[in-house]
Amino acid sequence: MVCVIYYNFIMVSRCNVLHISDIGDDFLSLFLPRLCLGCRAHLVRGERVLCTDCLLSMARTDFHRKRDNTLEQAFWGRCLVERAAAFSVYNRGSRIRKLIHALKYNGGTEIGRMLGELYGNILAESGFMTDIDMIVPVPLHPARQRQRGYNQSDYIAFGLSDASGVAVKKNIIRRAIKTGSQTKRGRYERWENVKSLFFVPDPEVVMGRHILVVDDVITTGSTMEACVNALHEAGEVKVSLVALAAAQKLTL
Ligand SMILES: [Zn+2]
Repeated sequence: MVCVIYYNFIMVSRCNVLHISDIGDDFLSLFLPRLCLGCRAHLVRGERVLCTDCLLSMARTDFHRKRDNTLEQAFWGRCLVERAAAFSVYNRGSRIRKLIHALKYNGGTEIGRMLGELYGNILAESGFMTDIDMIVPVPLHPARQRQRGYNQSDYIAFGLSDASGVAVKKNIIRRAIKTGSQTKRGRYERWENVKSLFFVPDPEVVMGRHILVVDDVITTGSTMEACVNALHEAGEVKVSLVALAAAQKLTL
C-alpha cells in the first residue's frame, strides 16, 4: 500500500515536472523565440534547429538505395569509389543551398550536425554505413578555417557519427596548398588545381580500412576526387563518400 502511494507520488511528480518544464519552454519562447536557422520561422514544440517546412522541402536523392547511381557514375574513370550518396539536390533555388550557406557563412554549425544526424540515421538504416571504419571530413585550408573559425564538414561528420556510432577521424587528409574558387574554372584547370592538393600524413592509420569521406556539397567532384586519390595513394583502402548535397547535374 505504501509502495503504491509512493509510486503514484513519483508519477504525479514526474508529470508535474514535465508539465512545468513544457510551460517554461513555451513561456521562455514568448520572450526568446526559437527560430529556424534555415528560414527564421518560429519553431514550434518538437522542432529543433530547422522547421518542418525546411526539412520537407529538400529534394531527396535516395542515392543510398541505388547502386551505380548517377553520383557514383560521375566518379567513374576519375577515382575508385565503393559507394557515393548525397542527401539532397543542390541548385540555385534549393532549400539545401540556403542551409549550406548558413552552415558555412553564418556560423550555423548546428545545421550541419542536425542534417548529418538525420542523414546518418537514413544511411545506417539502409546498410550504407556497413563496414565503414571511420568518417573523415574533407579539410578546409587552415587559413580559411582560421577565418571561419570551424570546418563545416566536421559538423556534418559529427552528426553522421552520432547516428551511426562510427568514429570521426580528423586530420587523416591534409591540404597542401591553397586553391582559389572552383566555380569559374574549367574541368581540367580545376583538376590541375586540386590533384596534388591533399595528402595523407600517416598512411598506417588508413591501411586496410574503409573510409567515408564527407563534404558539405559536391559541385564538380574535383575536391572529392583529389581526396579519394590521396587515400588510395596512401595504401590499400576502400573509400566511399557522402555529402549533404550534390549539384543537380550530378543527380539527373
Ligand atoms: Zn525553416
